[in-house]
Amino acid sequence: MPQNKPVTPVVYTRCCIAGGGPAGMMLGYLLARSGIETVVLEKHADFLRDFRGDTIHPSTLEVMHELGLLEEFLQRPHDQMRQVDGQVGDERLTMADFTHLPTRCKFIAFMPQWDFLDFLASKGRNYPAFHLHMQSEVTALLKDNERIVGVSVQTPQGELEIHADLLVGADGRHSIVREQAQLEVQNLGAPIDVLWLRISRKAEDPAQTLGRIDNGHIMVMLNRGDYWQCAYVIPKGGIDAIKAAGLDAFRKEIAGLAPYLSDRVAELKTWDDIKLLTVAVDRLRRWHRPGLLCIGDAAHAMSPIGGVGINLAIQDAVASANILVPTFLRGTPTQNDLAAVQARRMFPTRATQWMQVQIQNRVMTRVLASTQRPTLPWQLKLLRAWPWLRRWPARFVGMGVRPEHVSAALNRKS
Ligand SMILES: Cc1cc2nc3c(=O)[nH]c(=O)nc-3n(C[C@H](O)[C@H](O)[C@H](O)COP(=O)(O)OP(=O)(O)OC[C@H]3O[C@@H](n4cnc5c(N)ncnc54)[C@H](O)[C@@H]3O)c2cc1C
Repeated sequence: MPQNKPVTPVVYTRCCIAGGGPAGMMLGYLLARSGIETVVLEKHADFLRDFRGDTIHPSTLEVMHELGLLEEFLQRPHDQMRQVDGQVGDERLTMADFTHLPTRCKFIAFMPQWDFLDFLASKGRNYPAFHLHMQSEVTALLKDNERIVGVSVQTPQGELEIHADLLVGADGRHSIVREQAQLEVQNLGAPIDVLWLRISRKAEDPAQTLGRIDNGHIMVMLNRGDYWQCAYVIPKGGIDAIKAAGLDAFRKEIAGLAPYLSDRVAELKTWDDIKLLTVAVDRLRRWHRPGLLCIGDAAHAMSPIGGVGINLAIQDAVASANILVPTFLRGTPTQNDLAAVQARRMFPTRATQWMQVQIQNRVMTRVLASTQRPTLPWQLKLLRAWPWLRRWPARFVGMGVRPEHVSAALNRKS
């Protein structure tokens, strides 16, 4: 007897978003609040993933204000960072001062990313057009000639097809969507990798988030209340040499950079306590093809320098909604609409990545190659001499290039 192949269920929606990270959740929320049927597919069962960056920048907080969500959002536990300090050799200085930004919140909020995403999900669920499917992994694109018409999805209940007027690839820097759509990736190169680790914090430790440069080492320490989240920069592929030298040698390097951690570096018990972030900086030449748009890391993977990846992802989502909601309300977004999103967001992406590549190649590579105790470069001496100059790095990091605002057309309060 011939076996009947089970029929794959098919769901239709106006917009299907692959990936429930900052870009996908914000876009899903914005479309649904405008009444556009939207399905967000997230492959994990929850948002509880470690080490994805916890920074919510002033420009993102401004967006939350424009959406009428800021007050409630800031009631969630978070820390506020108003300046960034640096220490080069023995010399310490303030490198960025957020307190003069022309934004409602003059600080970066540190909040675990899962809290941020949970918040957006809970707000999205207020709208009947918002459909968030967890444990739903996009496995393939569905095509009709040149047009992308949907996705195959693996769920705990089996396979599902979602057909949509528009698919948005917001599935991060290892995006299956951009790969299967054969969108050309321009790799800008990254000569560094980053090791992420946590060490407990004592009340008598310095209070400020701090970047430390010394004797061929770079480490950024983010004050997270009862612990330090540390980013230790290494040359690309340097992890094997570090492991070969042994965990004890690594602990000593950390203690050498921040001597007050000496009594706590033993908290790094195994290499499992130290996570490798392979840094990539790339971007798509074209972010779209018929029926498909990529945004966030799927369109442009960012270096961790400046911690701006989440912010760019959110800004992409806001720009996409500003451009696409009016066209969704009239019909189906065209190629021109998708090109308009890329045109709007390409300059901020290029400018931010250009700055990251300059810092990677001109500063970090040199520091990592040197064995000398560094002295303060003239650029940082200027920041020390004229404190008002510290507003510029704060503006670049905190607001980014060409910050987006929620358009009046979207602004129906929740
Ligand atoms: C270790 C580390 C530290 C970082 N620190 C910072 C920081 O401090 N500040 C900052 O701003 N940025 C930081 N970043 C970068 C930041 O995390 C990204 O730039 C940002 O999250 C991009 O958002 P996104 O929504 O585009 O993609 P992601 O956040 O990568 O979200 C993509 C989502 O898609 C899901 N997904 C992937 N594939 C599929 C699939 N096939 N089907 C369904 N779902 C899928 C993933 O599970 C994920 O939830 C850091 C990144 C890393 C790795």
